[in-house]
Amino acid sequence: MDQSALPDCTPASLDVEAALAQVLDALTPLPGSEQIALDLALGRVLAQPLVAAMDLQPWPNSAMDGYAFAVSDLDQALAKGLALAGTSMAGHPFTGTLDPGECVRILTGAILPAGCDTVAMQEHVAVHGDQIRLTANVPRGANVRAPGEDVRTGSVVLPAGTRLGPPQIALAAALGQARVVVNHRPRVALFTSGDELTPLGQPLAAGAIYDSNRYLLRAMLQQMGMPVIDLGIVADDPDAVRSAFAAARAQADVVISSGGVSVGDADYVREVFSEFGDIHFWRIAMKPGRPLAFGRLDETWFFGLPGNPVSTAVTFLEFVRPALCRLEGEPLTAPLRVELPLLEPLRKAPGRMDFQRGIVAIDKDGRPGVRSAGPQGSHVMSSLAAANCLLVLPAASGDLPAGSLVEVELLPWTGTPAAHGQP
Ligand code: AMP
Ligand code: MG
Repeated sequence: MDQSALPDCTPASLDVEAALAQVLDALTPLPGSEQIALDLALGRVLAQPLVAAMDLQPWPNSAMDGYAFAVSDLDQALAKGLALAGTSMAGHPFTGTLDPGECVRILTGAILPAGCDTVAMQEHVAVHGDQIRLTANVPRGANVRAPGEDVRTGSVVLPAGTRLGPPQIALAAALGQARVVVNHRPRVALFTSGDELTPLGQPLAAGAIYDSNRYLLRAMLQQMGMPVIDLGIVADDPDAVRSAFAAARAQADVVISSGGVSVGDADYVREVFSEFGDIHFWRIAMKPGRPLAFGRLDETWFFGLPGNPVSTAVTFLEFVRPALCRLEGEPLTAPLRVELPLLEPLRKAPGRMDFQRGIVAIDKDGRPGVRSAGPQGSHVMSSLAAANCLLVLPAASGDLPAGSLVEVELLPWTGTPAAHGQP
C-alpha cells in the first residue's frame, strides 16, 4: 500500500514523559464498582475509602508475658510484693476484680484486667509462691497496647484508590471487614501480528519464530490481575487485523497488539488503525521502543506496541501499565526509581532515553549497586530474563564510568533483587 497515505509517525521524536502525559491525560477511570469478599480482593483497587468500624487494638492488652498491676501499687510491688489473683490469657480474660495489692499473671495479647494499667515483663519479676515482687522499676503503662493505638474508630485507614496487597487485606481483616467495594477492572484483549509467528507446539517453518509476545503480554497482564481476552495470532493482512480489532472492541475496554506498527511494507496494524480517526502514531525518543500507537475508538482504548520482544515489554511497562492502573482508578504514582551506583562501566549512546536491562546486585563490600544484564538489542530476550531492573538513563547521557549514580526501576516481577547473585 501507499505508506504516504498514512498519518505520519510524528517526524520528530516525542519524549517518554510527554507521551505518557498524553496517554494519562486522555484516560479517566472506568465507571462502576462491585462489592466482593475480602479473600478475593488481592490486587483490586478500593472504590470507597475503608473506614474503621472499630478500634485497633479493640481492647487494652499486654505486649508481653508478665504481670499486670496498678501503678499505684508500684512501691509495694518493689518492696514486699503483690498477691497473685488469677490469670489473663489471650481469649481467656481474667473475670474477677482486683483488690489493692493484687496482680494478675498476663500473657501476650490478653486483655488487661480492670484496675490494671501496667505490665511488668516476667524477666523483671521474682515469684515466691502466690507473691510476685518487681526486681526493676516499671513506668506507668509499660507493655500495654492501648485501644485505638493503631487505628481509631471512624478513621480512614485506606483511601479510595488503594490497591489491595497482602498488608492492606490484613488490615481490613483486623478491622472485621469481610467485604470490600472495589472498582471494575479493565477487560483487556490482546493479539499479536506477523506472518512469521507460530503457535507453540507447531514446528517452525523456515524464517518463522514462536509467538513469545503473546505469552509475555498475557503474563504481564495476569500478574496485574487483569482479565485477558486472547485473540491469538493475526496474519499480516489488513482484513485479518480489521476483524481482530472488531472482535476486540466488542469485548474489551483496552486492546493491545504487538508488531506491525512501524512503517514496513507488512505493517498492517498501522494501516488498519489509521482508518479509525482518533489514533496517534508516535516515535518515542526511547530505546528500546520507538513506534507506539495509542488511541480510542468509541469506548475502547488501543495500544499498538512494537514487535521486538524487549520493546514490547518496556513499552508495556512504561505506558500500558500506568494506563491500566489509571483506568482501574488507582491514583497515578510515578514509577518508584532509586539511584544506585554502577558496579561496572556502562555503554550508552546519547540521543534517546534508554531503558537498559540491569541487575541490582550486592558488591564485594556488601553494598547494593547495579550493572548491565547483558546485550541490549531489542530482540535479546535472555538479558531481559536475567534482569531484575531497568536502568533509566536520560537522553543526553553518554557512556558512564563505574560508580556513576543511575536511576533504577525494579521490574514488577522481581521478588528479591539481590537473589540474582553477586556481580
Ligand atoms: P514488527 O514490529 O512487526 O516490525 O516486528 C519487529 C520484530 O519483532 C520482528 O523481528 C518480529 O519478528 C518480531 N516480533 C513481532 N511479533 C512478535 C511476537 N509476537 N513474538 C516475538 N517476536 C515478535
Ligand atoms: Mg511484523
